[in-house]
Amino acid sequence: MADPAECTIKVMCRFRPLNSSEVTRGDRFIPKFQAEDTVVIASKPYMFDRVFPSNTTQEQVYNACAQKIVKDVLEGYNGTIFAYGQTSSGKTHTMEVSYFEIYLDKIRDLLDVSKTNLSVHEDKNRVPYVKGCTERFVCSPEEVMDTIDEGKSNRHVAVTNMNEHSSRSHSIFLINVKQENTQTEQKLSGKLYLVDLAGSEKVSKTGAEGAVLDEAKNINKSLSSLGNVISALAEGTAYIPYRDSKMTRILQDSLGGNCRTTIVICCSPSSFNEAETKSTLMFGQRAK
Ligand code: ADP
Ligand code: MG
Repeated sequence: MADPAECTIKVMCRFRPLNSSEVTRGDRFIPKFQAEDTVVIASKPYMFDRVFPSNTTQEQVYNACAQKIVKDVLEGYNGTIFAYGQTSSGKTHTMEVSYFEIYLDKIRDLLDVSKTNLSVHEDKNRVPYVKGCTERFVCSPEEVMDTIDEGKSNRHVAVTNMNEHSSRSHSIFLINVKQENTQTEQKLSGKLYLVDLAGSEKVSKTGAEGAVLDEAKNINKSLSSLGNVISALAEGTAYIPYRDSKMTRILQDSLGGNCRTTIVICCSPSSFNEAETKSTLMFGQRAK
């Protein structure tokens, strides 16, 4: 049965190219790519399972990050792919999907906008789930993509400042795969979570007050509880602090046990973002 030692956590790191405003500002391109697994920033090497330089294609990232997890989910394992990084570092670009989201620790259903504050319950096997969240039965890749588009448009409708909002909430897409062999009646089920995390940047201490400050504290808390869970899993600690945030509670049975987890650390290559990039890389190193 589920053996924590079987849990595999992979940490990959992706740098996007410099964008036009970074080029216009005259920013330097700071990462130096060494071998397939090392990036050097300001003479300091950071090692990951894999590093993707700025010219890496979506297909190369998919093949290295998702292909194996998707195959394992079809064989009955649970898997999770996270994208972590500051706003504009390429998280959403890397996941291509964006349905429910967690904003200020409230869970909102992106396939039914009338459900704005869903709660986390446990089933009879004590597996946590989001109670009342819309489930769609899909049979083809087209139906999956249609569902994703529907969730995306609901995200647009509900907020005026889309970019601002999406960088301050976590979005979680769950694909539940159930298969039954009609001859042997053998059943297999696996879950795949795709998690596009809130921007990891520090909110400037001077500018933040009231609601913005509450929001910043909440994001920091949920990202740090995720970091704590992942580093506890990587170290093989007996106690894993899943209950510290809604996100880690929901993902509990996909992060522990027989899990397949990949974290894609997304970074800007610009000298302007050097401090954030270093802190993003450090988050990734903690998970190893
Ligand atoms: P985030 O979700 O981390 O805030 P986005 O994924 O929205 O960031 O990326 C910000 C912008 O940069 C988008 O316009 C996106 O298309 C572009 N971008 C991100 N990563 C890449 C990449 N690897 N190659 C080319 N453009 C990218
Ligand atoms: Mg995004």
